Amino acid sequence: MRDTYGREISYLRLSVTDLCNLRCRYCMPEDGVCKKNHEEMLTEDEMILAVRAAASLGIHKLRLTGGEPLVKKNILSICERAAAVAGIREVCLTTNGTLLAPLAEDLRRAGVDRLNISLDTLNPGKYAHITRTGALPQALRGIESALEAGFERLKLNAVLIGGFNDDEIPALAELTRRYPADVRFIELMPMTEHEAFGRGAYVPASAVLSALPELLPEARSDGVARLYRLPGAKGSVGLISAVSSHFCTACNRIRLTADGKLKPCLHSDREISIKGLGLDEMRREMERAILDKPACHAPLSATRRSGAGRGMNRIGG
Ligand code: SAM
Ligand code: SF4
Repeated sequence: MRDTYGREISYLRLSVTDLCNLRCRYCMPEDGVCKKNHEEMLTEDEMILAVRAAASLGIHKLRLTGGEPLVKKNILSICERAAAVAGIREVCLTTNGTLLAPLAEDLRRAGVDRLNISLDTLNPGKYAHITRTGALPQALRGIESALEAGFERLKLNAVLIGGFNDDEIPALAELTRRYPADVRFIELMPMTEHEAFGRGAYVPASAVLSALPELLPEARSDGVARLYRLPGAKGSVGLISAVSSHFCTACNRIRLTADGKLKPCLHSDREISIKGLGLDEMRREMERAILDKPACHAPLSATRRSGAGRGMNRIGG
């Protein structure tokens, strides 16, 4: 379906939970989220109804995200049922990777086509610091298990943070030589008050080009990422300039939160609830959300925060 500005909306990002086993400093408060009543959250059946409603409007790509989707006990069943919805051609999942090792093969069997794994640093001490509760070897094991399970076009996502991991740009990009995987650098988005970074934390994605002059631009594009490649590498290096150069004109997505709110725009607090609705009503509300997509969100910067009204863990990225 096309929105008011002629953009074809083909992509649903569904957050299956706002809970997480990690507490990344730019995403979540230290004490986690206050756990909502079970009744306020979408049930598995409602999530599948929402995917059916989306597919009936022409949405064919689905991303399952969170919080951390792999803390959800019924994640395999959600994946399997979502992948079986007529019209859904691609099911992707975004994870921090730390719980992935025992699940990678099952996820593939359940119909997940592609994985994105978040990895901000290759230094164990820094990983423990940024995630507050995580251990780097578990995340690396997750990446390896995804490759062993046969996931192709794996994406490793690093949020660029000045004074934290900007010195690791070459090492992170080198992963594209070690693994058949793409590495994508994402600009830090100013989401909430609790992220503990000062003004220097925001680093434009162009810093990657300065750190790696040997990067060669790729002819193909990948949605929101500008693509480059290190000579001889197995995967590409992508730059996602979510702050310095937004991609609203090419926006093709809507988001659904774990508590059943459709978000026409990531950086707006406009939300449409579909909790408790049947298929036809969900479809109508989804249509409304698509027609409600703004042309563009307000500019973001270190001092101009996102208007999302939620932390990223409660949206899904
Ligand atoms: N837990 C999973 C993970 O970490 O991959 C999925 C959910 S997480 C909210 C999705 C993505 O959003 C991650 O790649 C994370 O690094 C990114 N993210 C969270 N907060 C962000 C922020 N303030 N700016 C940019 N990216 C952010
Ligand atoms: Fe959890 Fe992902 Fe947010 Fe980190 S970025 S706290 S892993 S939801």
